[in-house]
Amino acid sequence: MALNSIESTDENAIKVFNQTMHDDMVWEHKVEENMARALENEEFSVYLQPKYNPMTNRLAGAEALVRWISPTDGFINPGRFIPIFEKTGFVTKLDDYMISHVAKLQAQWLKAGKRIVPVSVNVSRAHFAMPNLAEHIQSLVDQYKVPHHYIEIELTESAFFDDKNTLLQTVKKLQDYGFEVSMDDFGSGYSSLNSLKDLPLDVLKLDAEFFRGENSEGRGEIVVSEAINLAKKLNMRIVAEGVEKKEQVEFLKSQSCDMIQGFYYSKPLPAEEYEKRM
Ligand code: C2E
Ligand code: MG
Ligand code: MG
Repeated sequence: MALNSIESTDENAIKVFNQTMHDDMVWEHKVEENMARALENEEFSVYLQPKYNPMTNRLAGAEALVRWISPTDGFINPGRFIPIFEKTGFVTKLDDYMISHVAKLQAQWLKAGKRIVPVSVNVSRAHFAMPNLAEHIQSLVDQYKVPHHYIEIELTESAFFDDKNTLLQTVKKLQDYGFEVSMDDFGSGYSSLNSLKDLPLDVLKLDAEFFRGENSEGRGEIVVSEAINLAKKLNMRIVAEGVEKKEQVEFLKSQSCDMIQGFYYSKPLPAEEYEKRM
């Protein structure tokens, strides 16, 4: 097991076996064995994390985040199964499930006369290699007849490492169909600035890492403030993620950041609780 965990490029590595390696493998197998059935049984639940406009303190959007409520293992956070779904390719099935469920919720709320706001859904890197992804997403949403501007598609920077032309075409088509497209976790990867140059996205989501640790000598604030300026010059709206402190909210407000998504305002909520914030 230790030997298998060594990357093939790592010629001089030494790995020592420990129990965690074994436990991880058992968990991985368990997830792989159960994921298809779990999807069928609708064990995945859509949680919604509100995004607030700091100028008005009003709800301005939300992000859909998956939770697995398993009859045998209880409440499971996505960090424990998304990486396994990504490895096996199953994640594209989960993406479809989330898009459909979000469209369904939005349709129900619209019908009930609620003031709904756009909800973003994470679409995995593997999915962006599909040449007809935009048509596919449109057909999922259209089953519930939700106006497209109420659904936003989040993509991560890592999607840029694959076929750039396919990605560009998909993004343009999604926008032509009226969906908004955002870049998730901006600033956490390698080639953030390059990808901004190449792709005309609607929304930039500033990674939570900008709001961790010390703001030593104000350097953190300088970087955030300039990232906001850059987004504005590129006609993008900006969402700050992972904001927990009042001082951060005050600062972001002073910089005219469009939206804030973080524990300061709210954790991800089950649909019934989110509904009360509309
Ligand atoms: P993400 O898309 O960047 O989502 C934001 C994550 O930050 C969420 O974690 C959210 O709960 C967490 N977060 C938000 N505000 C705060 C804060 O103030 N403090 C802290 N410490 N954390 C905060 P979560 O729900 O555990 O999701 C982790 C990642 O898993 C997501 O990162 C996303 O990449 C992936 N994921 C979640 N749901 C889905 C899904 O339905 N489909 C796909 N493909 N990926 C998903
Ligand atoms: Mg996201
Ligand atoms: Mg993010």
